[in-house]
Amino acid sequence: MGIRKSNPCPHCGSHCRIRTSKVISLETREKYYQCSNIDCSYEYRSVETIISTIRESFTPNPEVNIPPFERQRVLMPTG
Ligand SMILES: [Zn+2]
Repeated sequence: MGIRKSNPCPHCGSHCRIRTSKVISLETREKYYQCSNIDCSYEYRSVETIISTIRESFTPNPEVNIPPFERQRVLMPTG
């Protein structure tokens, strides 16, 4: 597969680029991807959802209610 790509095609491992994206809601976008390898040409659809806020907006939209990112360490199993 070679170098790990940031957005690898599940079939051939080549980079997939966004063809188009559609806004579903304030927090959700649907994206259509296409594999850059023309021998593969795989296309897929994915949904991207904002799951947490890292830094609050200086111009917040009152309709948006995205929970803050939990910075406290996730409890790791010890041993
Ligand atoms: Zn591919």
